[in-house]
Amino acid sequence: MKINPLNLASSNDFDCIIVGQGLAGTLLSYFLLLENQRVAVIDYPIQGRTSHIAAGLINPVTGRRIAKSWRFEELVGFARQTYEALELKLSIALWKDQTIHRALHNTFEENEWLRRSSFPEFQAYLFDEPSIGEIKDKIHEPHGWGELRGAAQIALPLLIEKWKEQLVNQGLYFNEIFDYQQLRFENDRINYRDLSAEKMIFCEGAKATENPFFNHLPFLPTKGELLLVRFHELNFEQILKHNLFLIPMGNGIYWVGATSRYEYDGPNPSDYARKYLINELDKTVKVSYEIISHEAGIRPTVADVRPLLGRHSEFHNLFIFNGLGTKGALMGPFFAQQMAKYLVGFGGLDEDVDIKRFDNLDKKGHFFKTPGQED
Ligand SMILES: Cc1cc2nc3c(=O)[nH]c(=O)nc-3n(C[C@H](O)[C@H](O)[C@H](O)COP(=O)(O)OP(=O)(O)OC[C@H]3O[C@@H](n4cnc5c(N)ncnc54)[C@H](O)[C@@H]3O)c2cc1C
Repeated sequence: MKINPLNLASSNDFDCIIVGQGLAGTLLSYFLLLENQRVAVIDYPIQGRTSHIAAGLINPVTGRRIAKSWRFEELVGFARQTYEALELKLSIALWKDQTIHRALHNTFEENEWLRRSSFPEFQAYLFDEPSIGEIKDKIHEPHGWGELRGAAQIALPLLIEKWKEQLVNQGLYFNEIFDYQQLRFENDRINYRDLSAEKMIFCEGAKATENPFFNHLPFLPTKGELLLVRFHELNFEQILKHNLFLIPMGNGIYWVGATSRYEYDGPNPSDYARKYLINELDKTVKVSYEIISHEAGIRPTVADVRPLLGRHSEFHNLFIFNGLGTKGALMGPFFAQQMAKYLVGFGGLDEDVDIKRFDNLDKKGHFFKTPGQED
């Protein structure tokens, strides 16, 4: 495609070009359009992308340590408001309140659950001895159960698909693999093939590790794999967290996962993970099941487990919105709005998400000292 000067002055002239339409690119384009920006989105379904396979879980507490999710109350309130606005705009259901029944595997875990449930900040979320109901006999009974309230499940694949349809209908979606070699910086504008914009924002998920402008940031991508299964004679509406998460996806299908692996063996589903997931599932349910599919994605996780927002220190038209890690459903809306306001000049970035926090990082991810800095 050649640059067409007529196009530059008209329909291909944008305020912002976004590269990548996973959850990050979807939410950022939504908030930029609310700010009356002209937005184009370049996206291509690359193997390893994650939003279309994520369970979309928003979880108030996570991990074996039963830790409270970072800034949970603030983030979840805004997330709910955003997904509900998108539900109205797109005429789809996105938000589902959820309860998680969590297996407690030993006395230590049980005591820890009881101890934490007495802390004020956990009182709205942690409850003991839930009624597991008729599924009890079909699940391998753990030492005990805890009930986790205040969770939610977001239909992320549906959101991505329906938002893409909107962009396509408005002529704002460009379906191609972005090629960094085609970027041109001219007269304070950035040109890409026959598109021109003031700003370009990269929302490429884990693929950002190949972005020559932002690959100095300390991404620690983690591969995640899951199975979609149909159980024989087992139905439940709540989420079970046993050896794995078992999450009802509707139409009798359950999301079973996920693995988490730093060592990179390519973006495709692996035999290793399939065996692991089947083994763990067999230790969880007593019923037979049919595997419908096996999926893999690479989470855009970051060394300090915080999102990555900001402007390139040298190429001032280039920006990044990434690093949603394992908590995109919760963190995405709040920080997409913050990024959109920053891009239009109506706000700053929180220090702990601004990529400036890594200004003193070398290409290998090590901090280097500035002159005069002590140990
Ligand atoms: C197994 C698994 C389970 C998960 N479960 C949850 C969960 O329950 N809750 C939760 O909050 N999070 C979950 N996550 C994490 C969640 O998926 C991420 O936080 C979030 O989806 C990341 O969105 P993203 O837009 O940054 O990246 P992605 O969804 O990967 O999107 C990046 C987009 O950019 C495109 N792209 C990249 N490079 C280019 C290029 N050069 N040219 C064109 N297009 C390009 C990709 O094809 C893709 O469409 C899970 C992740 C995995 C792997």
